[in-house]
Amino acid sequence: MNKKPSLRKKIGLELFRQIHRNNVKMHELNTLFWECTLRCNIACKHCGSDCRAIANQPDMPVADFLKVVDEITPHVNPNKTMMILTGGEALVRKDLEICGLELYKRGFPWGLVTNGLFLTPQRFQSLLRAGLHSITVSLDGFEEAHNWLRGNPKSFEKALNAIKMLVAENFPVWDIVTCVNQQNINDLQRFKEFLIETGVKDWRIFTIFPVGRAAQYPEFQLSDEDFTKVLDFIVETRKEGKIHLSYGCEGFLGNYETEVRDSFYQCHAGINVASVLADGSISACPSIRANFHQGNIYRDQFWDVWENRFEPFRNKNWAKHGKCADCNLWRYCEGNGMHLHDDNGELLFCHYERIK
Ligand code: SF4
Ligand code: SF4
Repeated sequence: MNKKPSLRKKIGLELFRQIHRNNVKMHELNTLFWECTLRCNIACKHCGSDCRAIANQPDMPVADFLKVVDEITPHVNPNKTMMILTGGEALVRKDLEICGLELYKRGFPWGLVTNGLFLTPQRFQSLLRAGLHSITVSLDGFEEAHNWLRGNPKSFEKALNAIKMLVAENFPVWDIVTCVNQQNINDLQRFKEFLIETGVKDWRIFTIFPVGRAAQYPEFQLSDEDFTKVLDFIVETRKEGKIHLSYGCEGFLGNYETEVRDSFYQCHAGINVASVLADGSISACPSIRANFHQGNIYRDQFWDVWENRFEPFRNKNWAKHGKCADCNLWRYCEGNGMHLHDDNGELLFCHYERIK
């Protein structure tokens, strides 16, 4: 596929730009992540948590997070505001159900992101009783590739058991997320067939850029040709219609926009998405570097921060320098995802540039 947006695509991009501008103006919070722990039961090679300057951070008490939730509640429609518990590994906490039930009582749908290791049938039933609404499980290819990345010889088996349980239980809202890298890229076709046979309906793919712990592993980095192959694979899979596959929200993809995702690219960080991190920091998206936050729940009122300190997410003019300064796609991309900027605001990665 030609990477330059076609005329038809440009018309779509222009229309979507208006929707995005309006979205920025309204800045309605519809997703709140809670990084409920930095503890984990495995040590993934690509995990950013240990790159953070927070040593032995204790888990935040549920009551502290619920205080934030109660502050938010009068300003949002709880039924339309998703709460996502993430980590570390969220399931190492034994009290997730207490939090989940309180969210459920207040009308918030809640979900979690997990590596699946601790998602046993007993725990799953307990989470269901607490009103669990959605789950994302990581599965990074077949056994060898997955266990290599996850650094645990049992992780594939356990994640797969968890996935089979979700299929058997007919749980309505769940998906699989896969980090594509050099270890699994050549198996993507077979892996897709395996997922379809297993009963997976929704699948998301993301790629990794050389930052933090991931930078130590050249195996994570795809060549530009392989990155383009991944996008073509997603296009083909979506045409087949046997499994709903999409690329993560990572970056602007030119003519691949709407061919590899359901909608045009948009970084929702700070526009509709916020996070409460393990140390209480108020951030926009958990993928953004931990030292870029706008406040802290132990010092600030969350809603005040959301309303008044998220300007860098809503006005990206600060990012219009370097290669973005003269880019004729700026009006649709606005300098790529927020997580792709370093401490000085420099762009680390342009997805569009990598498409061959
Ligand atoms: S150069 Fe900047 S604005 Fe242009 S496509 Fe790349 S990240 Fe987006
Ligand atoms: S910061 Fe990155 S991961 Fe987060 S919403 Fe924006 S593009 Fe997506």
